[in-house]
Amino acid sequence: MISIPSLSDLREQLRALGALPKHEQRVLRLWSQALPQTSGKRLIEDFLPRSLREGLPAFEAALAQLARVQSAHPGEDGSQRLLVALADGMTVESVLLPRDGLCVSSQIGCAVGCQFCMTGRDGLLRQVSSAEIVAQLVLARQRRPVKKVVFMGMGEPAHNLDAVMEAIELMGTVGNIGHKNLVFSSVGDPRVFERLPQGPVKPALALSLHTSKAALREQLLPRAPRLTPEELVEAGERYARQVGYPIQYQWTLLDGVNDGEDELDGIVRLLKGKYGVLNMIPYNSVPELPFQRPSWERAAEIARQLHRRGVLTKLRNSAGQDVDGGCGQLRARSLADDGS
Ligand code: SF4
Repeated sequence: MISIPSLSDLREQLRALGALPKHEQRVLRLWSQALPQTSGKRLIEDFLPRSLREGLPAFEAALAQLARVQSAHPGEDGSQRLLVALADGMTVESVLLPRDGLCVSSQIGCAVGCQFCMTGRDGLLRQVSSAEIVAQLVLARQRRPVKKVVFMGMGEPAHNLDAVMEAIELMGTVGNIGHKNLVFSSVGDPRVFERLPQGPVKPALALSLHTSKAALREQLLPRAPRLTPEELVEAGERYARQVGYPIQYQWTLLDGVNDGEDELDGIVRLLKGKYGVLNMIPYNSVPELPFQRPSWERAAEIARQLHRRGVLTKLRNSAGQDVDGGCGQLRARSLADDGS
């Protein structure tokens, strides 16, 4: 079985080659910023100790094996979905977003099992290591600049918390991504609210709300922690005040499910006056799942009403939706095409 390294393993390998902390940081900076490729420099530099210089070609080769782009799918909106193959042949999706953003995957599959999501259909297949998460950033940067990383691809980052926090720490330090441009996305696991404030890099937080009704939320997100929408917003508000940037509340708009007037009242009750913004994303229909996308006019009307009632609302399209957008759909399509 192939052993997949974490960032700690990579650091240990560098130390075994004689790297001091400053060398380790230097090598990881060059890698995570994809500088060897963009500037023509390699990881090997004259000031590094000889044993390290000699060991670096093999180290570099191991980094290159972590992940590679299996296929790229440009969307009409300027996004580009990448199907990324990992060393053991598993695949994850990354999405290059318009305006220098990148969406990364933190798990293969997902245990939360949201009813409207393709990724959750087969449960959790395996965790993505911290090094593999950073490798997604490196692959993206080999194609274009990245200034923002959102953890909204496949998986629930809270269920792979150590790896995600390790990747966030590296991205927010030597990886040169501003802390509030790192967006941790969660269905609202209590561990998130404990751990995030303690890290040296405090990311922004996106919370998947999807409905203001506790019972409906239990149905739609069957294995999410049993926090009520009120408890979720309360915990989010505390974190937002602590770090000084707003919570992004996520709402996948499902036709006839969570787009009624009662939900609008619920949203106003929950979010009016809170330090947050509501991102409404009309669902991207897929033949395999029974949900429908509401019309753009209806979605725009909902956003207008919420604005009028004092809730900062942004209506967004799921990036790359013309190329099997929505988490897990590209991977699902590729497996189907393979007949697997
Ligand atoms: Fe998991 Fe996110 Fe899909 Fe829910 S929407 S099943 S949390 S990947």
